[in-house]
Amino acid sequence: MIKVALAGNPNCGKTTLFNALTGSTAYVGNWPGVTVEKRSGVYRGKKSIDEEIEIIDLPGIYSLSPFTPEEIISRNYIINEKPDVVISVVDGTNLERNLYLTTQVLEMDVPVIIAINMIDAVKEKHESIDFEILEKELGVPVLPVSALKNEGLGELMKAVAKEAKARRNGKTFIDMEKEIDVAFGLYKNEGKENALFHAMKALENDSLEKEENPDLYQKVQDSMGENKSNCAHEIDEKRYSFLSPLCQRAKASKNKKRSLSDRIDKVLTHRWWALPIMALVLFAIFHLVFASDLFYLNAFGVNFGEGYQGFIELNVGLGSEIETYRPFAGLFWSDGGINSPGEILHVLAGDNETGILGCACLGIKQLLLIWGAPEWVVGFFYDGVLSGVAAVLGFVPQIMLLFFFFSLMEDSGYMARISFVLDRIFHRLGVSGRAFLPMIMGFGCGVPAMMNTRTLGSDKERTKTIRVIPFFTCGAKAEFLVTVAAAVAGVASFDAGAFTFLIYLLGVLVAFFSVVIMSKTSQREKTPPFIIELPSYHRPSLRSLLIHVWDRGKHFIEKAFTIILFSTVIIWFLASFGWAGGQFGMVESGAEGSILYYIGTGLSYLFYPLGFGPQLAHGSWAFAVASIQGIVAKENVTASLETLSANIVGPGASFEDLVSYSGISVGGLTAFTVFNMLTIPCFASIGTAKAELKDRKTLWSTIAFWLITSYVLGSLTFLMIEFIWPIAVVVVSLLLCGIGIYLYDRNMKEKEIEKEEVY
Ligand code: GDP
Ligand code: MG
Repeated sequence: MIKVALAGNPNCGKTTLFNALTGSTAYVGNWPGVTVEKRSGVYRGKKSIDEEIEIIDLPGIYSLSPFTPEEIISRNYIINEKPDVVISVVDGTNLERNLYLTTQVLEMDVPVIIAINMIDAVKEKHESIDFEILEKELGVPVLPVSALKNEGLGELMKAVAKEAKARRNGKTFIDMEKEIDVAFGLYKNEGKENALFHAMKALENDSLEKEENPDLYQKVQDSMGENKSNCAHEIDEKRYSFLSPLCQRAKASKNKKRSLSDRIDKVLTHRWWALPIMALVLFAIFHLVFASDLFYLNAFGVNFGEGYQGFIELNVGLGSEIETYRPFAGLFWSDGGINSPGEILHVLAGDNETGILGCACLGIKQLLLIWGAPEWVVGFFYDGVLSGVAAVLGFVPQIMLLFFFFSLMEDSGYMARISFVLDRIFHRLGVSGRAFLPMIMGFGCGVPAMMNTRTLGSDKERTKTIRVIPFFTCGAKAEFLVTVAAAVAGVASFDAGAFTFLIYLLGVLVAFFSVVIMSKTSQREKTPPFIIELPSYHRPSLRSLLIHVWDRGKHFIEKAFTIILFSTVIIWFLASFGWAGGQFGMVESGAEGSILYYIGTGLSYLFYPLGFGPQLAHGSWAFAVASIQGIVAKENVTASLETLSANIVGPGASFEDLVSYSGISVGGLTAFTVFNMLTIPCFASIGTAKAELKDRKTLWSTIAFWLITSYVLGSLTFLMIEFIWPIAVVVVSLLLCGIGIYLYDRNMKEKEIEKEEVY
């Protein structure tokens, strides 16, 4: 059991703090022999602290000199009962006078924590206190609390549990080194506990000290010579001459930083400007990371022809099979324009024959061929093992750059402002502004985005956010979208850019409505109040930035070597083996007859309502296989569409050729896109959701939510594009849903009100 004593001036809020900490456990009696009230009780908060904590409310005092019975009680309690920790309670609105007592407590050999109380009142006066300065100068933990508002008490008790294990020697801040050293030496030599405290009291001509340790007291007095009569007064002055400048600094430093921060905030959190500025900052970040036409030169008609062709040309291969590689071609600019820094990183690391990883993989393939390895061995290593790993690793530097910018926003304090600004809008939807960051991160990759939901206030808020993160089109989906948009442009002469944009928008809208619906139904709760203390802006340190980036990015590398590796090997096996000519064996990769073909054909029936099932003339299994592989990792969709097209239509055929050959309708093709955009994003995200959601049931309902949403919206897309009349049905059913939710919502509200009344 940890014993904690609260010491402080009268009216600093000790009793309020004591009551807040102990609740109904308090015992009230008298200190022995006097009529001063004694309260003790047990801390009844946090389960995370193992030990019981007993709290004693000492009487209010201004010093530890024996002028009043209260002062004697408090002093003797700490000396004789030896509490494990003393909390020096300080009224934050009256810092200097309150810390006077603290400096005396600090002279005792006991762990001390300074609780700056009434922090709510400090804030109300628009003042602030720099706790770091106090902590540094006084050498003990300094924590802000508000006993009245119940703020910071958990942290205070955590600090208590920690400090209780420590030992601490008394320390003085009085600038009288010579005298103190002598007096301290005298007490220490006698083996006295709290030697410094007693020595100080002897120097202060303390009457209680004279009574208790007459011999040592006399020796100290003798050592001072002439000085002894006004020493008490001198020490008193020196306490204040130490405290005054310290308190000045503690108040001023924050205020100076604050005023600059406040001026910046006038612009960045402005009622009207905040959102446009934020949109601009985010756009700039995405542009710097993903753009391949950094200065819009191509958009304005400047064409770079073939683009940058690199400085190396390699001819590799045996005999007639010589291939020419141009590593780093297109590194700085291509026919599409000048690359952004992120795109340069992508090309540099990239998994095709212009990037480092791609070249490494090709090198290994060539080596295997040179060694005369059998075809299936080459296939296994190249298509099965390396290509999947390389595809993911190739994105890592680019994604790391994105994380770098996000960390920069976070560490500088801007992210807190974004959450603050967005909270005004989001709060009405049932999530707090904090949910915004993970959602935006979903545009990059859902996995770190889901991990970021840890900062959210409640389980329900976390669940809602995790469920909608996949609706924000991630990097892997963007790749797939580009492929489909080109095909749509081909068959329906619909602008590819507009198609891409509409699908992005659809994702955001689906996310938006999902949050609203969940907040009204299964994930109902009073949105936790979003109290955020906006930190001052400051320059982030490079070291902490890099640590953040690495913490978030290393996940991709793990993903590449585990789930992606595993799934590409499985898919490679299923696509490469099958029944050719009635016998089981290796078949041409992805061709009809492979195990994958049979699986795909079977599954394609599922997609009948979405318009890319058995109604297609050819190759419906390719669409099914691509969709299923997409559940493992969205990178797979693009990859398998390209390979399977070549197998089904003929060598060299692209996905566009498959689209016309299969006879898929525009509705079917759009439904295929919508399904893949909204469904389970990848295995990695399931794994992350499992770790971040509170239980298995929530995980399963989340997976079901993704599947159902994508399937239903996919079917609706197909129907709406193909047939006009279902639109009427859809409108009516949506209306019915809306009314149902409204009624349910009202019902729940009434129940809540009833409950509150009963309570
Ligand atoms: P004690 O004499 O140290 O035991 O102080 P009390 O607990 O009796 O509190 C003195 C006054 O300060 C009471 O009016 C409390 O309501 C008020 N008080 C205590 N803690 C806080 C706080 O955190 N914020 C504010 N604003 N007032 C507080
Ligand atoms: Mg009291």
